[in-house]
Amino acid sequence: MESTARYVSVFVLLILQTLFFYTDRTAAQNGSIEINNTDFLNFSLKAISTTVPFPPWLRAITGLTEWPDANPPYISDGVNLTDIFDGPYYEQVNACDNAFMNCVFDCNNCVGPDDILQCKELVQTFDDGPSDATPRLLNFFNQIQKKVSFFVIGIQVLMFPDIFRQEHANGHFLGLHTYNHPYLPGLTNQQIAAQFQWTIWVMNATAGVVPRYFRPPYGGLDNRVRTIASRYGLTPIVWQWDSNDWRTVNESRTAQDVYTDVTNWKQAGDTGIILEHDFQGSLVDIGIRVSSILGNVSTVVSANCKDPSAPWYR
Ligand SMILES: [Zn+2]
Repeated sequence: MESTARYVSVFVLLILQTLFFYTDRTAAQNGSIEINNTDFLNFSLKAISTTVPFPPWLRAITGLTEWPDANPPYISDGVNLTDIFDGPYYEQVNACDNAFMNCVFDCNNCVGPDDILQCKELVQTFDDGPSDATPRLLNFFNQIQKKVSFFVIGIQVLMFPDIFRQEHANGHFLGLHTYNHPYLPGLTNQQIAAQFQWTIWVMNATAGVVPRYFRPPYGGLDNRVRTIASRYGLTPIVWQWDSNDWRTVNESRTAQDVYTDVTNWKQAGDTGIILEHDFQGSLVDIGIRVSSILGNVSTVVSANCKDPSAPWYR
């Protein structure tokens, strides 16, 4: 019976995808797409040193004795995934093939009812850290007593645990940005769950915090990812404004282009979440300058965008 229902679902899905395939193609051209900046993550965790001990409670849960490499294993943890349809899988270039049925953010900025992207002000968020460039950003914000938001990669936290703890000690908002930055809709349910569970465990083992919010790499967010995230108590935070700061690294975009965009948003009275990155020094420089353009808007995304009394961790 269950398998029959599964076949029927797949059949209906295929029909609908065929119907809407062509209309969605155009939206793909305008999609909000994040950097493919995972090259720096293509290494073995064993090749780096981490000072985060593998905690006894995690050994008890996982049966493992050390942090996993990239692509962490799924660990059965009592979270029920069996009622979540396992698919469709697709990569970023095919995001819009699946947009109608699945509310795919990186195709046409489709947002679910619980997704967060709006704010009362223009606020800065930084993805892909912590990195060795992050302390300069932390020092700057500390000097002006400004709080911002960081969406951290688990493997980066293991590489730079002291910097992650400093982010927490300085009162910044810390959200989850997966363990090794995959495009989540291309993964199985268990692989997606593994990205959440291991990053939660890393953040907990490093700074004693369990996040309530996450940002999907590349904006790869659909209803399947949302559902699995919710099982882990995670609410998606996306963005309204892409600074495209990463395009200054290897492309023709300049830092001045970023400043011009941000200045225009501010002068137009726009509000909302701005996407930036802190995985290298030049982007930290841009983040500091953008902060100056925005002024001392000291708000973190969870507090300003939804429930002001809600803590960002538990
Ligand atoms: Zn990212």
